Amino acid sequence: MHYFRIIDEELYAEDIRVSELVEEFGSPLYIYSRRTVEEHWLKWEQALADLDHRVCFAVKANSNLAVINTLAGLGSGFDVVSAGELFRVKKAGGDSSLCTFAGVGKTAEEIEQAISDGIYSFNVESVAELELISSVATGKGVRAPVSVRVNPNVDAETHGKITTGTYENKFGIAFEEVAALYERASRMPGIWLRGVQIHIGSQITAVRPFEDAVRKMLPLVTELKARHGIEFFDIGGGVGIVYQSAMASGTSEWWLGEDKPLTPASYAGALVPLLRGLGLKIIVEPGRFIVGNAGILAAKVLYVKKTGKKRFVVVDAAMNDLIRPAFYDSYHEIMSVGKKAGQELLPTDVVGPICESGDFFCKNRPLPPFESGDCLALMSAGAYGFTMSSNYNSRPRAAEVMVSGKTVKLVRRRESFDDLIRGESFD
Ligand SMILES: *Cc1c(COP(=O)(O)O)cnc(C)c1O
Repeated sequence: MHYFRIIDEELYAEDIRVSELVEEFGSPLYIYSRRTVEEHWLKWEQALADLDHRVCFAVKANSNLAVINTLAGLGSGFDVVSAGELFRVKKAGGDSSLCTFAGVGKTAEEIEQAISDGIYSFNVESVAELELISSVATGKGVRAPVSVRVNPNVDAETHGKITTGTYENKFGIAFEEVAALYERASRMPGIWLRGVQIHIGSQITAVRPFEDAVRKMLPLVTELKARHGIEFFDIGGGVGIVYQSAMASGTSEWWLGEDKPLTPASYAGALVPLLRGLGLKIIVEPGRFIVGNAGILAAKVLYVKKTGKKRFVVVDAAMNDLIRPAFYDSYHEIMSVGKKAGQELLPTDVVGPICESGDFFCKNRPLPPFESGDCLALMSAGAYGFTMSSNYNSRPRAAEVMVSGKTVKLVRRRESFDDLIRGESFD
């Protein structure tokens, strides 16, 4: 469910026409629906209501201050992967005591900062990291709260670049070594063993991999609670979203996207019965699920170019704005923003202006006959969209706006040429 819908052949973000937004703020333009963000977060809250739980939004999916602030207002925790993300959470009014800090390469400075900020827990990925955290904490005269990220060695059945829970990946501590590592960590002077964590991958569309991982973990978690008094089990993020909906096939139903293969409710239906008996706080770290379908990237058609048999639609957005198709071969629905109904669909490649063959948004897809000056929308671009954007080809980054009902706020202004060279110098 999301609040981008077609009314009378025009695409709306909540109650505002996307074409009006592009007119006012220019293109390419990231557009977020505040109501969608809130509802998706609340779905998690409701699904886990029977457990002592916390929903920690994975900030790397969308770290705009307005998104963080929206979720902070609901009482969300946050999963951060750098001191930079922790800085954003604090700036946006988030509570650092509700933050988990993940990642295989935390620096001493980041550890120091996170301890000073009083985060809830470090999710630790190696013995060397445990030792460093212990020594930084000891230097500050405290014990740092940690959980070890366990690699349960289950196949998440997702794209190779976003699977994290098998021994082929760099993440976590091998399942078989975890109990011994907790023994060792329990003797480190600066370590407080507060929990245990898993995160098996991203864009997972079936509940079974999650269920397999949790079932495998249960005896270990029980043992860690008994021996070390841990208080939480963090089961990570990774619930996938629908990228391909009926919307683009020309139907003008209002909002669509309800054919979700996996929802917080079905996820909880399978997992809550397994987790209830543990007597631990259960943490989830959804990123994509909360923001993925809450954002779109609007772009304008610059040129239509026909070479041989192919039809290329060149738009003003590019892989520097949204890298997912190039990076993950991912699918984004492409919609017309204005009236195109009843016209024959033509096999089309939608491409950006960047000097790379990888700079495309779709290939040979039947799309309306876009012409120069038309506006289109790349749907489901709210997660890993702007956060993965860059200035490649010296392209200023897009503006971001957040819509709430009939109101809109510019939540990041479009970058200028001066922004491009900020901090640079010569001679
Ligand atoms: C990326 C990440 C998440 C969020 O993943 P989604 O697929 O966006 O839900 C959660 N936890 C950790 C540790 C991550 O690295």
